[in-house]
Amino acid sequence: MKSVIIVGQGIAGTVLAETLLLQGYKVYIYDQAPTTSSSLVAAGVYNPIIAKRITTSWMAAQLLPACQQFYTQLQAKYRTPLIHPLDLYMLFDSIEHQNNWATKATDAKYMPWIQQRPPASPHIIQPYGGQWFTGSGYVRTHTLLHQCRTQQHPQLVYIPELFNYAHVEHTPQGVTYQNITADYLFFCEGVQAQNNPWFDYIPFKPAKGEVLTIKVENFKADYIIQSGVYILPQGNDTYIVGATYNWDQIDNQPTAEGKEELMLKVQKVINLPFEVVAHKAGIRPAITDRRPVIGFHPQHPKLGVFNGLGAKGILLAPYFAQHLAQVLAGHMPLSKEIDVNRFLRK
Ligand SMILES: Cc1cc2nc3c(=O)[nH]c(=O)nc-3n(C[C@H](O)[C@H](O)[C@H](O)COP(=O)(O)OP(=O)(O)OC[C@H]3O[C@@H](n4cnc5c(N)ncnc54)[C@H](O)[C@@H]3O)c2cc1C
Repeated sequence: MKSVIIVGQGIAGTVLAETLLLQGYKVYIYDQAPTTSSSLVAAGVYNPIIAKRITTSWMAAQLLPACQQFYTQLQAKYRTPLIHPLDLYMLFDSIEHQNNWATKATDAKYMPWIQQRPPASPHIIQPYGGQWFTGSGYVRTHTLLHQCRTQQHPQLVYIPELFNYAHVEHTPQGVTYQNITADYLFFCEGVQAQNNPWFDYIPFKPAKGEVLTIKVENFKADYIIQSGVYILPQGNDTYIVGATYNWDQIDNQPTAEGKEELMLKVQKVINLPFEVVAHKAGIRPAITDRRPVIGFHPQHPKLGVFNGLGAKGILLAPYFAQHLAQVLAGHMPLSKEIDVNRFLRK
């Protein structure tokens, strides 16, 4: 039986582990069980449309079906709600934004995602109107991580420890770590990969983000609102609002400025009083060219990386984990666009 060690159990490590379990691998996952991480903070939204620029997400036509299928299958396996498809109402923020959409609305590439619905809530402030889209939704990231970690699977071993690079040994068959021998070792460490001695050439551009959970009585929106931030219904009159972007202050601490920015954005969209019930921050593992980093170390081909999911871990991970599984099976070469070695000096 093929075997793999995965370091890190955020969205990347979890999706890769579940994908390789389906391929019959024995999977060992190391994670230091953090109290916070990008994946624990993420609202889990997936969305084929980039609202501000009104364009489709990179590879949306391939990524979205893979995403929907993967989490739906996992939901059946875990027997617990995991993926929640929701329509999205994009608010125009100006006449230019509205006109920009008007010139694009008949483009065939948007047709699968355009939705017709009755007017949105009267409590939404929308001087320039908006447009409904479908194909979006969210995945419960806490549930995803928890279910993967705690499932009883004969081929999965979860080890709640910090992984120590110094104990890796390279063997002709693969790698050995402590008493485990595996065919491959994949690092899925999020921004902590910046300390990884084998992949220190990855040009991360980490982006801190903050999210709020708010309570708004009598709003009753059962769709995602996109207006500079997303407002995502969670039931019981609560909504997640996110997210901020900060490339200068890279830490996991929620800030007064972040809270203020998000509250102001909510006030511009909802004409009802609201209460902030939670405030979190995390660091997105983004890359300078905004593409995932996947592949193998040039001198140690049994060491790999699955990272760089940036702001879109939920949408990107299933398609690219499947791609990596196909590469490992020898069915296709690694896509050059996401190959980690695109950053090696020629
Ligand atoms: C505020 C905010 C909102 C977001 N909203 C969304 C959203 O709505 N939709 C979306 O798709 N994405 C969203 N994202 C982005 C998303 O969070 C990331 O794309 C995704 O979480 C990256 O996952 P990851 O597994 O690569 O990294 P991480 O989540 O950082 O996970 C890395 C894991 O590796 C572990 N680890 C690292 N080094 C070691 C080691 N040496 N030993 C053991 N364990 C180790 C860490 O403990 C951690 O658990 C958001 C991000 C932020 C910050």
